This record gives sequence, structure tokens and C-alpha cells, in this order.
Amino acid sequence: MVHKVVFLDRDGTLNEEVGYVNHIERFILLPRVGQAIRLLNQHGWKAVVITNQSGVARGYFPESLIHQVHQKMEDLLEKEGAYLDGIYYCPHHPDIGIPPYRQKCRCRKPAPGLVEEAVRDLDLDTSLSYVVGDRGADIEFANRIGAKAILVLTGYGKGEWEHSKGQWRVKPDHVASDLYGAVQWILEQERVRL
Ligand SMILES: [Mg+2]
Ligand SMILES: [Zn+2]
Repeated sequence: MVHKVVFLDRDGTLNEEVGYVNHIERFILLPRVGQAIRLLNQHGWKAVVITNQSGVARGYFPESLIHQVHQKMEDLLEKEGAYLDGIYYCPHHPDIGIPPYRQKCRCRKPAPGLVEEAVRDLDLDTSLSYVVGDRGADIEFANRIGAKAILVLTGYGKGEWEHSKGQWRVKPDHVASDLYGAVQWILEQERVRL
């Protein structure tokens, strides 16, 4: 049994973009995110977070903070009857910090390393998968793993869409106001296919 999957960016897509979540108090879930993930859960989509957290390599916070923040994220989602099927992060940066965090890794988006790991762990079918994120790198990442790309206008999304999209090699398949709008579009695409 293989599973259909939506890969979710974290900062600016699930929670408020604050630069770096360098303290647990700075993790604030965006409106309608719990509802959106609950919809994915109910419709049989795996919801998997893929996030770059180079703040570790940069020395802004310890890797242990990421685990605390993810526990908070899961607790907040649980209160809304939603859950994530997997959370994968890259703590590296290619040129900043000290090894092992400074390295040219295969897991920093838009590289596909974390998706390959998730596919192995969770038995995912990437041929009908989606990536939802707020930055050009998320769109590039979707293209590299063969997924459809949705840009959300939360976080950096609105600014990237207005000012940076001219430099993007690939364009998103859809632009949504927020994660809930993105999930509605995904479910609509599925209805069209059936
Ligand atoms: Mg983001
Ligand atoms: Zn990495």
C-alpha cells in the first residue's frame, strides 16, 4: 500500500514567519492550519513537514530546540484534531558554522534527501504528490521531486510572489491565500481526476 502525500514547508506556511524560531514562544500556528491538516488527515493524504533549519548551523539555537518546537506544533495540532505523519528537518548550512552542521548536505531544500527518507519511512507515492510552501525554493524543490507546487501567500509568500517570481526557474501550479486554500485546491484536483 502506497500513500498519497502533501509535503508541507514549516515557517511561513504552518507558523508565523519570524525570521528564526529561536525560542519556543516564537512558534505561533497560523489561522486555519489545524483545519487544513485535519482535512488532509480525513481524506487519506499523508501530511509530512520538510523544513530547513539552518539556524542550528548558524549557531542561533541548539538542535534540541527544534524537537521542543515540533512537540509544541504537534500539541497545538492535536487540540484541533489534526496530526502530522512525519516531520523532517535539515539543520545544515553549506558555508556557515562548524562541522558537522556546516556541510554540503543532501537534505537542505531544494535537495531531495529528506523526501527520499520520508518515502522510505512512510511508503509514499510521490507521483501524485504536492509541495506547499511560501518561498521560491519550495517551488524549485517541488519541481525537483516531481510534485505539484502550491505557493501560499502567508509568510514570505506575498512578497516573493510580487517581487521575486521573475527570477524563478519554475512557476507554481497554484497560488493560494493560505494552507487551507491550498488544501481545498488539492482536494478539488483529486475530485477532477476521479
Ligand atoms: Mg517557509
Ligand atoms: Zn541537511
